[in-house]
Amino acid sequence: GGTIRFEDVHFAYDPERQILKGVSFEVPSGHTVAIVGPSGAGKSTISRLIFRFYDVTSGAITIDGQDLREVQQETLRARIGMVPQDTVLFNDTIRYNVRYGRPSANDGEVEEAARMAQIAGFIESLPHGFDTEVGERGLKLSGGEKQRVAIARTLLKAPPILILDEATSALDTQTEREIQSALDVVSKNRTTLVIAHRLSTVVGADQILVLEAGRIVERGTHAELLAKD
Ligand code: ADP
Ligand code: ADP
Repeated sequence: GGTIRFEDVHFAYDPERQILKGVSFEVPSGHTVAIVGPSGAGKSTISRLIFRFYDVTSGAITIDGQDLREVQQETLRARIGMVPQDTVLFNDTIRYNVRYGRPSANDGEVEEAARMAQIAGFIESLPHGFDTEVGERGLKLSGGEKQRVAIARTLLKAPPILILDEATSALDTQTEREIQSALDVVSKNRTTLVIAHRLSTVVGADQILVLEAGRIVERGTHAELLAKD
């Protein structure tokens, strides 16, 4: 489970400048909602509020009806998985980096997640390139490979809620397509909020919200939004 609700959320980092100006939406349990809009609209701010890096100025955010202000940040981090635009990996093996998603996982579970994300071939390697200390275990991962490590970590963690914040936007078109299909596997039947720049990358979402200057200006399915233009 895990229904996320925003109820007339206002937010400002600094009182002089409103960033979110009355944002209301719901991500029903198991569904995928996407937020698209221009740079600076406030999209990433929404994901930061869900993790309680900041609290709303007014209005409320709830998960399964519980106000986030009553939920500890650690609890939220345990329940919510995130694949960011650029994944920062620990300078330890890929196996270690995947296991970080759920430290209690056994080797078989780590390997299964790595297999599903198609990184099983190099889980004993280190991610940041060759140096004399690590010799042949040093592998310089591409952006797409790093995203696959993040995906394997998320598969292993299996969080009820998932946030994909521009998770494919740093990749070339071909890699983006490959990673997108891996993300579709992770987000299937999971409460998922996708943050994206372009409408074309969120075709499969149950609902798309268009955010501009802190306000939702349109909402609908991909087909509905295309028909409006
Ligand atoms: P988006 O994800 O749509 O590009 P953001 O949510 O990252 O937009 O940012 C919305 C606005 O908030 C931007 O104008 C940005 O400069 C501002 N902003 C983002 N983070 C901070 C911060 N920590 N302090 C002050 N302003 C911020
Ligand atoms: P919820 O927490 O919303 O009940 P589930 O835990 O049932 O969602 O998982 C949602 C999706 O993620 C399903 O399609 C399931 O196959 C997949 N999934 C769940 N756990 C794992 C896991 N450990 N490894 C790989 N896929 C998983």
